Amino acid sequence: MTQEELFKKLVAHSKEYGFIFPSSEIYDGLSAVYDYGQMGVELKNNIKKYWWDSMVKLNDNIVGIDAAIFMHPRTWEASGHVGAFNDPLIDNKDSKKRYRADVLIEDWLAKQDEKIAKEVEKARKRFGESFDEAMFLETNPRVAETRKKRDQVHERMAKALNDNDFDEIKRIIEDCEIVCPISGTRNWTEVRQFNLMFETKIGSVADGANTIYLRPETAQGIFVNFLNVQKTGRMKIPFGIAQIGKAFRNEIVARQFIFRMREFEQMEMQFFIRPGDEMRWYEHWKAFRMSWHKALGFGENHYRFHDHDKLAHYANAATDIEYEFPFGFKEVEGVHSRTDFDLGNHQKFSGRKIQYFDPETGESYVPYVVETSIGVDRMVLQVLSASYTEEKLEKEDRVVMKFPPALAPVKAAVLPLVKKDGLPELAHEVFDALKFDHVCQYDEKDSIGKRYRRQDAIGTPFCITVDHQSREDRTVTVRHRDTMAQERVTIDELPRLIDEEVSFRKLFRQIVNR
Ligand code: ATP
Repeated sequence: MTQEELFKKLVAHSKEYGFIFPSSEIYDGLSAVYDYGQMGVELKNNIKKYWWDSMVKLNDNIVGIDAAIFMHPRTWEASGHVGAFNDPLIDNKDSKKRYRADVLIEDWLAKQDEKIAKEVEKARKRFGESFDEAMFLETNPRVAETRKKRDQVHERMAKALNDNDFDEIKRIIEDCEIVCPISGTRNWTEVRQFNLMFETKIGSVADGANTIYLRPETAQGIFVNFLNVQKTGRMKIPFGIAQIGKAFRNEIVARQFIFRMREFEQMEMQFFIRPGDEMRWYEHWKAFRMSWHKALGFGENHYRFHDHDKLAHYANAATDIEYEFPFGFKEVEGVHSRTDFDLGNHQKFSGRKIQYFDPETGESYVPYVVETSIGVDRMVLQVLSASYTEEKLEKEDRVVMKFPPALAPVKAAVLPLVKKDGLPELAHEVFDALKFDHVCQYDEKDSIGKRYRRQDAIGTPFCITVDHQSREDRTVTVRHRDTMAQERVTIDELPRLIDEEVSFRKLFRQIVNR
């Protein structure tokens, strides 16, 4: 199965089992907007809990807030979004399709990397044990030429983006002979700037309504509350403020399912520090966040850091944590050193003093900020793609979502073997003993095999079967999702067993002991 086929299957599976639906589907949907179904919302809530607790509970110097989506319009002037929150767009005149010009070039770069990787693999097979990859990369003329061209284009793109030189971006697209994936032609328009913020009006028109924006990031809600939290929480630098909430961007190209949406959710943490300390904290948060991802057990090789070529207007260092999706390595999270750009500008634009008196140094200053910013929906996509597994069994195939148990939407399914002989009553008793602590399902319909398949498809870690023996000795069978192994345990033991396996404790321990 190709990665593309796998991705299509994942999208279909997500819909079929109530994870993700296209928004307002009965009206044919709304582009790049999605709804979470009954399974999706549980998964998403668990991801949010994993993030929130790892920030606010594991770090005694981080607190949370929940700021409004609407903010005073001056906020977005101060943050630079009114002036600079733009993407370069380009249209293909034949297909009438619109693209992000930088993404077209990035895709071309990724293709060159694939070409090189293929050559390396071929050579590895040819030379066997004695293969020296570094030497091959240096000396093979075809590879050396591809690498040289790739690096030149990469450098030109980074410079053009930094200089906002759109003519040069267009020239790169022409020089690389990039074609529109739909029409296959190179009939491109000029490259233009496009602001990604959604506008709306607040107040009635008669009163003279004001234009406001739907926030394109949650961070500014934290910056404008810096003094409120610092003072009321008696916070001492270094300290952080965490927040989870919706953000909105009028993305030019919205593709790849929930990877790029126009309404999405972010989990952001801004960490306030002394000026000059930023590189130390930048490295700290890079390591902390990477270990948060890796604790989920999706494989060390599926992650990498990707440092930014173009630093955003606010940053002096920035990297992405990328995950290898079925469509390649892509950004899931950003770690940015934002200097005093935001607080400094809010001080300027609001006329309020936004400073911290440091009792240790006896000085007042505008704190520096290192932030970690992750998209909830991209994280959902990461978990879905890492967990989706097709297995061939002796008599049939199964699709099983191998979610880390702490993230699984449903933790346990309680299944009476038959619908009579007092088994449903006992099964309800088991269900009631678990429901205060966990999302569980009770299911008595169809054969036990079919019921197992249904639970596999939504990734339930435990199926608990109540049979005739259960009535005699108050034991049940517990079937483990991944191994399908079954064990017999007493009903009294169940809550402890399940609690141990589905708790976040194991994940947190890995982060703390990294
Ligand atoms: P990209 O380069 O993919 O457009 P970005 O660098 O603009 O993303 P940030 O502004 O750093 O993204 O936002 C932080 C995080 O928010 C991203 O790492 C991503 O997980 C998430 N995010 C950003 N834009 C979207 C979107 N349109 N849909 C879903 N998640 C998003």
